[in-house]
Order: sequence, then structure tokens, then C-alpha cells
Amino acid sequence: MLEIRLVVCEALRMPTCAVCKDEVDELVIAMIGGKRKKVCEDCGDRAKESEAIAQESESVVQNMMGFKGRR
Ligand SMILES: [Zn+2]
Repeated sequence: MLEIRLVVCEALRMPTCAVCKDEVDELVIAMIGGKRKKVCEDCGDRAKESEAIAQESESVVQNMMGFKGRR
């Protein structure tokens, strides 16, 4: 009985963004810090941008290391 009620509550609850905690109609999966998270579209877009920046700075670090290695 209690279990069924919990499932119903879960189904009725609005999905919540993992980042801004806003209740949204639809969640998107975004990679944040290397982990998949369900977030709203706004945060998903932001995560994509910051993820791209993270990848960029990583390649910069790799270039620096490669440069060091060659010397
Ligand atoms: Zn959000």
C-alpha cells in the first residue's frame, strides 16, 4: 500500500532540474563534471557551453605539456 502511494507521488511530481532546482516540463541530459545529469534546457545549454570551454582549456594544458615534453 505505502509503496504504491510512493510510486504515485513520484509520478505526479514535476521533474526538477539538478542544477537550478526549478520544476520543468521536460528535462534534458547534460554532462556536468563528467557525470550525466537531468537538467532543464537552460542549464543544459549552459553546461554544453562550459563543457566546451573545459575541453578547450584541457587541450591548452595538453599542448603545454607536449611543449614541455619536447624540450
Ligand atoms: Zn536548470
